[in-house]
Amino acid sequence: MTTTGRLFTTNARLSRVATTTTTPREIIIDESGDLIIRVYKKSSAFDPKFQSSIDSSKTIDGEILAIIKVTKKTLVDKSVYFAAMLAGGFGEAKQDTIDLEDEQLWFRHFHDSFNEASYKVLIPTIWGALKIAQFYNFKTEDLEDWFGKWLKDNGGDKLEKFTIEELQTLLYPCQEFDNPHGFAHATRRLVYETEGHIKELFPKGFSKWSGKHLHLHPRIITSINAARGSLKTKIHQGIYSRRFFSSSCSCKMEGYFQYGLALDKTGVWPLEEVMHGRDAFSLQQILQGLGRFGYKAPNETCNLCSQDFATTVVGPTVDRVQRNFEGLCLDCIDKGEKRDWDFEYRYHQARRVWDMAEAGCRFEHSEPTWYFSWMARKQAADFFERERDARKRKASEMD
Ligand SMILES: [Zn+2]
Ligand SMILES: [Zn+2]
Repeated sequence: MTTTGRLFTTNARLSRVATTTTTPREIIIDESGDLIIRVYKKSSAFDPKFQSSIDSSKTIDGEILAIIKVTKKTLVDKSVYFAAMLAGGFGEAKQDTIDLEDEQLWFRHFHDSFNEASYKVLIPTIWGALKIAQFYNFKTEDLEDWFGKWLKDNGGDKLEKFTIEELQTLLYPCQEFDNPHGFAHATRRLVYETEGHIKELFPKGFSKWSGKHLHLHPRIITSINAARGSLKTKIHQGIYSRRFFSSSCSCKMEGYFQYGLALDKTGVWPLEEVMHGRDAFSLQQILQGLGRFGYKAPNETCNLCSQDFATTVVGPTVDRVQRNFEGLCLDCIDKGEKRDWDFEYRYHQARRVWDMAEAGCRFEHSEPTWYFSWMARKQAADFFERERDARKRKASEMD
């Protein structure tokens, strides 16, 4: 990136920014550019304002973050939006300076000039790029490679470097930039490492209002929480023991007590109590806690009661649950309109193949990933459903 303090000062059109508090960054994307874009962040009516470049009698509520030099023709060629704006009959067409809300990533993309800093942007900038894409109808596919590299550079191969809060804000970008590995690792870590109910988060600077339309479909969040619940059930099924009840040994009461005591002493039992509510543990904390299970056998002779349940029951359960869920698969979720779900359901059940290599899952996975992705799938209404909905709408209009 080239930045200079002098480059733009000769351009008289760059009117002084009346009440802006910080000096905007000056960024040259194209040395021989013929258009200056002033990228600004919206503010409330009482915060900084600046003079519009199109109509100097007007002000815009916002703060100019950056002044970017680009080429008109490149934008016109690469984007329908800019073609309409810069080559059409709008006021902007004749301008050599325009004001746009946020986002230099897109301009870098249009000019094929991503730089080191493009891969170090913060998460709100990624959301900004998505918001702009929706607003101007830019193709998110165009930034998929950039996002994939950003994700790896900042999060590592399995997104292990991100915090839980960061992962909560990355679910949506992973989905929108169609990154199946990122989405799987993020959903997997959230299922295992969230303390309590899992939800998605807006990053700093975004709210219900400014982030409107920028969220996952609720069925996906429901499915992520269902996966957590299912793992809880698997721990319970593996560990809760009725084996003492049917034993004919005389030490079974002592054995049963010692087993219960050992569970109690782990501090992560019973699951219903420790996995929900304010001070809930994450699944990962529970699996680790179960490592403290220390059963004191009442004797060394009884087949049942002298067992080392830590190695015969608890340990294997912990291992199984730890490996059970590989995260959600975007391909299993997304191909709604192309897939015949009834057929697939039977196909999977019959063949015991879960990643549908032939249907294009981009990573290998087993049944739980398929099942919870299947639950979160996009499914277009079929002809029968559309007809019925239309009939009902008509009937209610006539009421
Ligand atoms: Zn016994
Ligand atoms: Zn899949």
